Amino acid sequence: MSVNREPESRTRKANGKSRRRAPATELVHRGTMRSPFGETSEAMFLNSGFVYETAEQAEARFKGDDDGYVYSRYANPTVSMFEDRMCALEGAEAARGTSSGMAAVSAALLCQLEAGDHVLAARALFGSCRYIVEDLLPKFGVQSTLVDGRDMDAWRAAVRPNTKVLFFETPTNPTLEIVDIQAVSNLAREIGAHVVVDNVFATPMHQRPMLLGADIVAYSATKHIDGQGRCLGGIVLGTSEFIEKKLHDFLKHTGPSLSPFNAWVMLKGLETMPLRVERHCASAAKVADFLAELPQVSRVLYPGRADHPQAELAARQMAAGGPLVSFEVAGDKSDTFAMLNALEIIRISNNLGDAKSLITHPATTTHQRLSTEARAELDISDTLVRLSIGLEDPDDLIEDLAGALAR
Ligand SMILES: *Cc1c(COP(=O)(O)O)cnc(C)c1O
Repeated sequence: MSVNREPESRTRKANGKSRRRAPATELVHRGTMRSPFGETSEAMFLNSGFVYETAEQAEARFKGDDDGYVYSRYANPTVSMFEDRMCALEGAEAARGTSSGMAAVSAALLCQLEAGDHVLAARALFGSCRYIVEDLLPKFGVQSTLVDGRDMDAWRAAVRPNTKVLFFETPTNPTLEIVDIQAVSNLAREIGAHVVVDNVFATPMHQRPMLLGADIVAYSATKHIDGQGRCLGGIVLGTSEFIEKKLHDFLKHTGPSLSPFNAWVMLKGLETMPLRVERHCASAAKVADFLAELPQVSRVLYPGRADHPQAELAARQMAAGGPLVSFEVAGDKSDTFAMLNALEIIRISNNLGDAKSLITHPATTTHQRLSTEARAELDISDTLVRLSIGLEDPDDLIEDLAGALAR
C-alpha cells in the first residue's frame, strides 16, 4: 500500500543518541498515515468496505497473510490513526477505538470473562459501569463484589480463587476519591488477575495507569479527548496479546465500532488536548481554592488541594489535581437547586470534559438509580454538586459561582 507513515517516536540528536518525544509532539504527529495526495491533516476515511486488487489478495487478507483493511467494523485507517496516537500517549502496545466509553468498558470486561469468574470492583463507579458490574455481569454467571476502593484491606478480603478482574476508576465520580493504582495492581499480580482502569477523570495527560502496573486502560473519548462536546467515542489500551487476541475478536463480532468521523474528531482533539487539559486543571485548582473560602460552601473535594483526604496519594499518582471539582452547598437540596438555577455561565448538564463548564447534581441525576443507602455509602448527599471546569476564563467562572451562591 502506498501510504506514508509518520516515523516512529524517536528524536534523533546530533550525537547519534535518541530520546522519546514529548506527549505534546506525539499528539500532533504520531499515527498519521498519508494517502498519495499528501494531505497535511489526517484524512477522514468515511467508507465501510475496501476493495481488493485480485481475488487472491482478498483471500490472503481474510487469512491474515496480507495486513490491509477488510471492513470498517474490524478496522479503518482513520480509526487506526487515533488508536496509534493514543498508544503513544499511554505507553500501550495496542488499542482499539469503540463507539462510546461504555462500549470500551463493557468490551474490556466482557472479552476476558466467562461464567464462573469473579470481578472485584470499587463501588464508586460511573453509573453505567456500576450497572455492568452489579447487574449485567451476574446475569451471565459472572459474580461480582463491590468494595470501598480506598481500602486495600477491603480489596484483599474480597478476593476469591476465581477473581479474574479488578476494576476501578480514579478519581471517582462524583466524590473524587482516589484509588491506589499501584497497590491494586500489585494485588492483581499476586492473584493472577487483570487490572482494568477507567481513566477518564484524571485525563490521559495526568495519570498513566500502565506505568503503575495496570494491564488495561479504558477511556470515554467523549470527554477530554474530544473535549468540545461533539462526539461519542471510547478506546481500550493494553498489551498486543490482550488487544489483538481477546478484545479484537470481541469487537469484530459484536460490532461497537468507532465511526471514522468520530475518530477523526478525536484525532484532532488530541492535537490540542495538552493545552486544553492544562487550562482545565489550572482553572479547576483556582475555582476549588476560591470555593473553599466561601461560607456558603460546606465542603470542597479536589484532589489537588492539601485538604483532600488522600492528597498524598493523589500527588503520587496524578500530575495535577484534575479538571473536576465537587463541593457541597451549605444548606439543603432546595438551596443547592437554587444555586444551580442561578448560574449564568456554568450550565446544568450530566456531561463533563467539555470546553463549556458543566455542573451536575448527582443525587437526582447520574446517581438517581441507586438506593438511598447506596448513595449514603458513596457520600453523595443532596447538597453535593460536581463541576466540570471548561475553558472559560476562571475569573468569570468564579464570579458566576459567587453570584449564584450569594442568592
Ligand atoms: C462518561 C464516562 C463513561 C462513559 O462514556 P460514554 O462515552 O458516555 O459512553 C465511563 N466512565 C466515566 C468515568 C465517564 O466519565
